Amino acid sequence: MAAKDTDTFTGNKGLRIEEPLIFEQHAPGRSGVDLPEPPAVQDRLGGLERRDVIGLPDLSEPQVMRHYTRLSQKNFAIDAGFYPLGSCTMKHNPRLNEKVARLPGLADVHPLQPASTVQGALRLIDTLAHWIKTLTGMPAVAMSPAAGAHGELCGLMTARAALEARGDARKRVLVPDSAHGTNPATAAICGYSVEAIPLNDRGRVDLAALRAALDEDVAAFMLTNPNTCGLFEDEILEQSQAVHDVGAFFYCDGANFNAIVGRVRPGDLGIDCMHLNLHKTFSTPHGGGGPGSGPVVLSEALASYAPLPWVVHGDDGYEVVEHEADASDAEPYGRMKAYHGQMGMFVRALAYMMSHGADGLKQVSSDAVLNANYLLARLSDELTLAYDGPCMHEVLFDDGFLKGTDVTTLDFAKAMIDEGFHPMTMYFPLVAHGALLMEPTETESRDNLEQYIDTVLDLARRAKAGDAQTFQDAPGYTPRRRLDETAAARCPILRWKPDSVSGEAAE
Ligand SMILES: *Cc1c(COP(=O)(O)O)cnc(C)c1O
Repeated sequence: MAAKDTDTFTGNKGLRIEEPLIFEQHAPGRSGVDLPEPPAVQDRLGGLERRDVIGLPDLSEPQVMRHYTRLSQKNFAIDAGFYPLGSCTMKHNPRLNEKVARLPGLADVHPLQPASTVQGALRLIDTLAHWIKTLTGMPAVAMSPAAGAHGELCGLMTARAALEARGDARKRVLVPDSAHGTNPATAAICGYSVEAIPLNDRGRVDLAALRAALDEDVAAFMLTNPNTCGLFEDEILEQSQAVHDVGAFFYCDGANFNAIVGRVRPGDLGIDCMHLNLHKTFSTPHGGGGPGSGPVVLSEALASYAPLPWVVHGDDGYEVVEHEADASDAEPYGRMKAYHGQMGMFVRALAYMMSHGADGLKQVSSDAVLNANYLLARLSDELTLAYDGPCMHEVLFDDGFLKGTDVTTLDFAKAMIDEGFHPMTMYFPLVAHGALLMEPTETESRDNLEQYIDTVLDLARRAKAGDAQTFQDAPGYTPRRRLDETAAARCPILRWKPDSVSGEAAE
C-alpha cells in the first residue's frame, strides 16, 4: 500500500506507519496460539457442518498487536490535542470516570442478571436519573436511548404516543433553519412532514414566523437552546407559550446543555421533552462512534408514555419494570433498545456529576461560555462573525473574511490540520455562509486557546495576503491529502475481496 504523497521507500512517513488491512497480512498457517488437533467426534450436525475455510486471516500475536495499536494511533482524539468541533462538544474525559467505570462490580455486570444481584447498578441508574431530573427541572426521564439522535426519536415517539392517546393525529413538525440535521430526520422518520422556521437577523428563531406556522395540525416544535449558532434563544418563553396554545409539544434538542448546566433548568422554560447527550455535557467519551448515551427528560404531560424499561423502588429494593403489564398506570409506547441503556456511560456521567458537585457544574458552563467568548473577542478582528453580540459555549463565523481570497472554508480547515489542530466544524449550521463553528469547551487552558487563536489569526492573514495555493494544497503533512469524501459516503467499499486493490477506497 504505497502512499502517493511520499517518496520514502516504505511509504511510511517517519514513525507514522502505513498499515495494510488485516486480511492483506494473512499468511496461511500463521497463528498466535498452538492448539492440539481436536479429537475426532461424531458428527452431530447431520451433515450440515461447514466445509469451507472460514476466511479469517492467519496472523501471529505481534502482528495483531501492532495492527490494532497502529490503527488506534491513526485516530485523532481529545486525548491527543485540541478538538474545537462546534456542536459536538469534545471535552476532556476525566480519568476518574474511566477508573470508576472499570471497577469489576460495575464493569462486569450482565444485563440479564436478576435484579437482586445488581442492586448497586440499579441504584446507580436511579441516582443518575435523579440528578438528571434535578438539573433539568423535569419530573421524568427515559434512560435507555443510546445517543442524542436516538433520544430525539424517543422524544418524538413519546409525543406521538401522547397525541394518539388523545385521538389527535397531527401531521406537522416545525424545525428552525439552524437545526442539526438529526431534528428533521427524526421528525420524518416518525412520519411527520417537516417545515423549516426561519431565523431573525439576531440568529434566533423568528417568533412571528413560528406563530404564523403554528396551528392544531402541528405535533411538535423542535428547538435547540442554546441554538447551533451558539446563541441563547431569549424568546423561548414566548415560543413555548405559542406552541402550547395550539396543543403541540415543545421538544428541545439538549445537545448544548453544557452551556447552561447548573444555571438554567429547561423545565422552567416550558419544555416537554429534551435529550441530553451524556457524551457532550457530561464528558463521557464519544468513543470513535462507540456508545453514546441520550437520556430524555419528560414533562408531566409526557411522562406516562415513556418507553420501557425503568427502575423503581420496590419492597425488596430496586426493581426494573420491563413489561407493559407491570407498568401500573403508565402507557409506554414500547422500548428503544434491548436492556437498560449504556451502563458504562451512566457510570462515567454520574462520576462526572458527583466529582463536580452543583457548584462545579455551574462552573463548567460558565467556563465553557467564557472560553468561547474569548475566541470571539480575539478572532473577530480578522474573521467575520455570523451574528453580532456575545455567544454562549461556541462561536460562529462565516466565510465573509475569505471573500476574494480564493480560499474556501474547506481549504482553511485543511490548513488547520497541517498546524496540528483538528478543524472546527465547517459548513454547519447552514444559516451561515461557509460556516466555521468553534467550541473550545471549558477544559482547554488559556495557553491552548492562545496558540489556537494565534494560529487561526496567522492563517486568516496569510489567506488575505494572497497565499491561496498553500491552502488549496493543504494538508501537506498527513498520510493522505484530500479525500473524495462524497465517494466515500456514497460508494463506500466496505468489503475486502482478495483481489481488491487497497488504497483505492475514497482516494
Ligand atoms: C450532537 C448533536 C445531535 C446528535 O447527537 P448524537 O449523540 O451525535 O446522536 C443533535 N443535535 C445537536 C445540536 C447536536 O450537536
